[in-house]
Formats: sequence, C-alpha cells, structure tokens
Amino acid sequence: MSKVIGIDLGTTNSCVAVMEAGDPLVIPNDEGSRTTPSVVAFGKDNERLVGQIARRQAVTNGNKTIAVAKRLIGRRFIEDEVQTTVKHVGYKIVEADNGDAWVRVDNRDYSPAQISAMVLERMKSIAEAYLGEKVTQAVVTVPAYFNDAQRQATKDASKIAGLDVLRIINEPTAAALAYGLGRQGHERVAVFDLGGGTFDISVLEIDNGVFDVRSTNGDTFLGGEDFDNRIARWMIDRFKAEHGIDLTTDAVAMQRIKEGAEKAKHELSSATDTEIHLPFICSSASGPKHLSQELTRSQMEGLVADLIDRLEAPCRQALDDARMTADELDAILLVGGMTRMARVQDKVVEIFGKQPERGINPDEVVAVGAAIQGSVLRGEVKGVILLDVTPLSLGLETQGGLFEPIITRNTTIPCKKSKIFTTAQDNQDMVRVHVLQGEREMAEDNTSLGFVELHGLPPAPRGLPEIEVTFELDTNGILQVHAKDRGTGKAQTAKIVSTSGLAEADVQKMVTEAEQYRKSDRERRAATEARNRLDGLLYTTRRSMDEYGPLLSPQDSSILKDALYQSDRAVDSGDLRLIATAHENLAMASQRLAESIYSAARMAPQEEDEMGFGSAPAPVGRAPRPTLDIGTDIIDDEEENN
Ligand code: AMP
Repeated sequence: MSKVIGIDLGTTNSCVAVMEAGDPLVIPNDEGSRTTPSVVAFGKDNERLVGQIARRQAVTNGNKTIAVAKRLIGRRFIEDEVQTTVKHVGYKIVEADNGDAWVRVDNRDYSPAQISAMVLERMKSIAEAYLGEKVTQAVVTVPAYFNDAQRQATKDASKIAGLDVLRIINEPTAAALAYGLGRQGHERVAVFDLGGGTFDISVLEIDNGVFDVRSTNGDTFLGGEDFDNRIARWMIDRFKAEHGIDLTTDAVAMQRIKEGAEKAKHELSSATDTEIHLPFICSSASGPKHLSQELTRSQMEGLVADLIDRLEAPCRQALDDARMTADELDAILLVGGMTRMARVQDKVVEIFGKQPERGINPDEVVAVGAAIQGSVLRGEVKGVILLDVTPLSLGLETQGGLFEPIITRNTTIPCKKSKIFTTAQDNQDMVRVHVLQGEREMAEDNTSLGFVELHGLPPAPRGLPEIEVTFELDTNGILQVHAKDRGTGKAQTAKIVSTSGLAEADVQKMVTEAEQYRKSDRERRAATEARNRLDGLLYTTRRSMDEYGPLLSPQDSSILKDALYQSDRAVDSGDLRLIATAHENLAMASQRLAESIYSAARMAPQEEDEMGFGSAPAPVGRAPRPTLDIGTDIIDDEEENN
C-alpha cells in the first residue's frame, strides 16, 4: 500500500512529511531544503515554475509570480478586504463569475485553489521522488480558523493536484499531535501559531493519546505578510522623504522592497539592528539611486506594535472558551516562522505568564503532525484519538435578518444538529435557507456559505409548516445542510448550494487540465534531459576532437564533423526526435574517435606513470575496473579512511 503523506500548505512555505518505520520524517526537496516556497510563476514560454525556482525569479517577473495564494483561497472578492489582505503583489486580483477573488496572469484567470493545487502537486512530487513510488493519499492542514469555504477550497485544490485527502486537519492540532505523541499522562497545552498569513491559537487537553481540542480562535488577516508590509511602507516613505521618488509605481522596485523588508525582519530576530541595501533601486535624471537604510529592532517593533497587540484578544477568548486560566496550562507550543520574532515571543510570555516550549521546529511540526494523522487513519499508529472543534458558529438567517446559530463554535466535530423552523408568509410554497458562519448577531455581518432551497410545500397558513433544518459537520470541518418538510410527512432533502467556491464541474475541468499539464511537464522534462545529455556529449566530443582529431581518417573526421553539426541543430530545435537521432549518430561517430585514440596508444611506447599503473590497457584476466556513473557522489577521503 502506498504511503500517506502529511502536507503543511503554508502561506509562505510548505512542508511535506511521511511516517517511516513508525517515525515521522520531513522530506527535503531536490535542493535539499526541508520547506519549499508556496510560490507559483509562469515563465517566458508560459512554463509553470513552482517553489524555490519561482521565488528566485520573482523580482524580474513580478506580474507573473503568484505568492500568498492561501490568503485568497475560498474568499469572496471584496475590494477593500482584498487590498488589505494581499498587498504589494505584482499580479492582478479580479472578481470571478462566482464572486470569488481569483488571480489574473496574462489575461488568464486562475482560482487560488488552482494555484494552491500547483504547490500541492510540487509537494507530492517531492515525496514521490524521495519514496520512489507514486503517492495518492494525503492529510492536508489548514489554519484552525479557516471557515467552510476556505476548507472546501483547500479540498478542491488537493483534488486538482491528484490527491485523495484522507483528512483536513487544523494546523495547531497537527502541531499538538507531533508534540504529544507518545507522551504519557495529562497535559493542558496552548498552540500559538503565527505564520506568513494567519494567526491561530488553540487550547487542548492531551490525555494518554486522546487529543481533545477545547477551543480555538484566531485571525485570518494577521500574519508575517502584514509585518513585511509595515516595514516595506516605512522603507518607501523614507525613500520618498530622502529622494522625492515614489517607488510604489515601479513593480520591480516593489518586489525588491518586499524581499528587503522580509530579510530585515528575519535579521532583527537575532540582531538588534540591520542595514537594508538595495542598490540601483531606480534611476532619476541625476542618475541611479540606491536604497540604503538602517532599521533597529526597537524601530521595527514600533512599526508593528498594533499587530502585536492584536495577538492578545484571540488568546484570551480561547482560554475563556476552554474554561481555563493561563496558569492551568502546562505548555505553550510555538508554531510558524513568525514566532522567531523576539517581540512575538515576549508577547507570548506576557499573555500566558510562562516561557514557551523549546526544541520544537516551528516550520516542520505541522507537517509532522499531518503525517502522524495519516498513519492514525490508516491504523498504523494506534491509541491516538483526535477530537477537534469547529472554529466558528454555523447557523442560518431568520426573519428580520437575524443570525440563528445551529452549531455553536468550539463544538467537537463530527457533529449533527437540527432545529425546526416555519414559514413567514401564508401559502409559501418554497423556503430558502440562507446558511452563514460567524459570531455576529446580524446575518449580514457573518460569512455567507450558501443557500438550501426546499420547494413544493403545500399551501398552509404562515407559522404552520414545520421545516427541519439539519447541519452536519464532518471530520474535515466541512458542512452539509439538509432541509425537510415534516408537516406533510414527505421528506425532502437538499444539499447546500454554495454561493462561492468551485462547482464540481469546475473542479473536474481543473483536474483534467492539471493532468494535461502533468503530461506536458513530463514531456518537457524528458526533452530537457535528452538535450542536456546531448549537450554533454557534444562538449566531451569537441574536447577530444581538439586534442585527438588528427588521429582520425579524413572520412571519419568528416562523419564526426557532420554529426557535431547535426547535434548543434538538434539542440537548438529542442525537438525530442531530432535530439534522439542526433545523439545516436554522434555517439557512434565519437566511438570511432575513441577507437583511434586507443589504437594510437597501443602503438606508443609503454611507460609507468607516477602512480605506478601502466598506461596500457589492462592485461586479459585482470579484474575489470569499476565504472563510475556520471554524477556518483564523491566519497569523502576522510570518511573512507576511517
Ligand atoms: P510559515 O507560514 O510558518 O512558513 O511562516 C512564514 C513567516 O515566518 C514569514 O512571514 C516569514 O517571513 C516569517 N519568518 C521566518 N523566519 C523568520 C525569522 N527568523 N524571524 C522573523 N520572521 C520569520
């Protein structure tokens, strides 16, 4: 049976882990990094770049490089909200036909789920390369505070990526699982998770393998991106004050400023001041301009003071909802790259009155927890029970625009709850149930999830029909709503019609498209590899030709020259068939050269070289020398001697 992988699909970086022989293992990508940037770009020929390679070219290709797609996933297009959520990005965000926020690149629109699917696919292929087998199943994590639409969109993304999602679990719950696996006894733990895009806080009780989430809270508009944007704003303002130039209209400069801001933020986690140097940031009539600024840690802390303050209320609320005080907590776990910031750690101590746990890798712990959950679901890890909760209340709109909760926040999932409603008018033959999620009293202040329509009610005075509305929340935290007319005895059920997200048909279309991409990506890769092989052969043949060319007969020499010429043309064409033929011909022609070299060597007088080996061919009967594959690791001399 193939392995289940755990994927932490982060705003900034993603991480993949797997259980190997009972232990979790974080899988490095082909560059050796244990996390991979959640960045997608479309290159010169519209080829798809994902991960580090996409991040690296962001400065020069900003309007075709998509970062922080997770901040848009499952979101409606609300102009102000989008502006505050995703700032200083080079790509365009547009309103899709279904009212969601999508991304526009080169006049083509992509749903954030499609972009996230490309990141997930990359994580899947990293795992496949490491495991040497196909991977089809995964546990994917989401911020605990993600609403139904965001969870559904993440599930769609996984499907588009060709992954069967066994479970969507909350990031802090995954972190607690990684921390608590194998620990005995009873502990109360808070998981403080501040990542690139979101902030989550969860309070759990861990009791001999039972992970009971007592409450969760957070802010899906608060993360490292907001800190970077504050620093970027400060840099832009200072530059304007010094040089009178507004850099916000220059896309390349803005991309560099964003990177410079993030780098400064990282440096200020260990240093107390830092220099930001961005040479040739723009040019004016008086010549090129360089950005050179000094930022101290306390200055930066001043710029982000209100963001730090916003961390407090969700923590207090989570403690209240769990009916616990801070002193009753046994441990505070820090998750997410932003928890490396000194001021964030101080704030944690201020809120909870104790030092957080050390020794947890904030970038990897979530993926590790997801991998563990994968093994739990497959029955490979026993004795672990995960009791998670829904982060936000779910309910419907009643007369006068009021919000009536049916499942309240922090209810353990899965769960199913029903309430009876009636009609507001005489002879109403249809009811339309508006389903919402949130904590506000008025429906319009909460997030609309969709509608359930129940048709064909018999004529009756208002208030008489009994409509039973049932909310069913599955283990992924995804909702299904059913409405039934109890009065007639005729049961009618209807599933929720989502007002946002992707319709099943859209998902299917994207799955097919992703499969085609996979095919064309494979073909492109095969062509590149063949071209590289031919390039290598061209190089070595030319070098041998320079040195030993005169040993060839005029006829062999002209065959070889022709093969070299055809190979050059094949490399330029990029055509796989031409490349294969050229490679075959060149390999044959260059063999003639090798034969000439060795026969010339046989004729030459033999000498012992300084290593004591004869330069003549090995005598018959001597063991053949081991052949080294090109690319075989060099054995470290020291190690070999040990
Ligand atoms: P995550 O979503 O968990 O990958 O967190 C990524 C966020 O953590 C980004 O905003 C990073 O800039 C931030 N981050 C990573 N390392 C550091 C660091 N040493 N100091 C401050 N922030 C960091």
